[in-house]
Amino acid sequence: MSDEVTNLAPEERVLSTLNDDGSRRWLNPRLSKGVFLSARRVVAWVLIFVFSAIPWIPFNGNPMVFLDIIHREFTFFGKTFLPTDTLLLALLLITGFVSVFLITALFGRVWCGWACPQTVYMEFLYRPIERFFVGGSGKPKAKNLLGLRKILQYVAYLIVSIHLSQTFISYFVGAANLKEWIWGSPADHPAAFGVMFVTTGLMMFDFAYFREQVCCVMCPYARMQSALLDQDSMIVTYDKKRGDPRGKKKRAKKNEIGEIISLPILEEELGDCIDCTMCVQTCPTGIDIRDGLQLECIGCAQCVDACNVVMEKIGRPLGLIRYSSERIINGGKSHLIRPRVIIYPLILIGALTAFVFLLSTKPAADVLFIRGQGLPFNILESTDITNQVRVRISNRTEEAATYTVSVIEPEGVRIDDFTPMTIDAVETSSEMMLIIAPYSVFKDGEVILSIKIVDDQGNYETVETYKILGPMSLPKEKTP
Ligand code: SF4
Ligand code: SF4
Repeated sequence: MSDEVTNLAPEERVLSTLNDDGSRRWLNPRLSKGVFLSARRVVAWVLIFVFSAIPWIPFNGNPMVFLDIIHREFTFFGKTFLPTDTLLLALLLITGFVSVFLITALFGRVWCGWACPQTVYMEFLYRPIERFFVGGSGKPKAKNLLGLRKILQYVAYLIVSIHLSQTFISYFVGAANLKEWIWGSPADHPAAFGVMFVTTGLMMFDFAYFREQVCCVMCPYARMQSALLDQDSMIVTYDKKRGDPRGKKKRAKKNEIGEIISLPILEEELGDCIDCTMCVQTCPTGIDIRDGLQLECIGCAQCVDACNVVMEKIGRPLGLIRYSSERIINGGKSHLIRPRVIIYPLILIGALTAFVFLLSTKPAADVLFIRGQGLPFNILESTDITNQVRVRISNRTEEAATYTVSVIEPEGVRIDDFTPMTIDAVETSSEMMLIIAPYSVFKDGEVILSIKIVDDQGNYETVETYKILGPMSLPKEKTP
């Protein structure tokens, strides 16, 4: 069996999180202190604080960010986007995506290493908890009480996961609702409790078990790197020219029968890399940066901090591993201005301009007429023609308003069965109305109406056109 496994084993490591036999390779990265770790720690804690605080901070009377998926309303910085704002939301999404493309083209995977929630929580919450209770690589705690420490570690994971999952959910249900659910009995809100339970479970699965595999095998952004990066993008990279050949002072290598198969490398011929593997031991995704840029590299710069400590100790210049571009590391000159660095900002400016223009010219309400179901029209005894129409109004203002609807053209057409609609701030409502028109206004079975919609706050007044249907000719029994 072991022979079979050996035969099937790949020639080189396929995934940094898998052993040769396909089993999980558990990573326990060594913590490397340095300027980048300190800076990332500050950024991470600011982000964790901001992420936890945002749902609780009101902005113009609304939550700062509220993604109400059930009602398809999205609030950003107090501004609510309604389901009718598809174009605005699409422009916002384009702006977000292109910004990420631009940042990646300029600074590589800075998002992954410095700001992605997966990295921030894993490296600055869950791994520190693990190190605190059971010790990290290179600093294992004494074996006694290990079982108890493990239990405490998972209890701490659970507490953090509950907090994070509730913070996450509050973006979708609102902090006030969440607070009510938390203090209420689960029996009063079984669905909400179920969602919280599942989200906490997913957090535990991710950060206690799946961990860095999210970055290595799941994240689509990692897979787009080859398209998003170029030779001038800033990445964490090993200076091969300076570092190789690696190793300490080496002796000649001999084979089994004592023949010299490689000559010793003189110390003066060696590069700066002493092959201590500290950069590998510290990597949270388990890769060796000296093999070149890899999909698994999240740009966290832990290997930079680790190697700088080694360089300092052996009296060599810092930066054998550093932030640089492939072009510079290969001896070329950096090109800051290149096609993608021009095209992405142009798209950004275009999308943002369109967004601001559309937002500033948005009316105070959106009105939509929808033809009623069933027969397109009815003919009354009086030969008047009726059409059932649903009117849907979205109040885009920050105050409740009452809307009246009336037909101003052609003369003789009226609306029946309709009471003015009172709609709360940033809410949408719809109501059926009956439009009654004399047969004489129809031409070829249809007539276009001018319908006036006005609110009682003086914020909105518009005239919309809408086509109602009627018969091509009156049936004989109804002909006068
Ligand atoms: S930490 Fe630096 S010196 Fe040590 S193996 Fe890595 S690159 Fe070489
Ligand atoms: S190679 Fe270096 S920068 Fe990349 S993930 Fe590993 S430690 Fe972080």
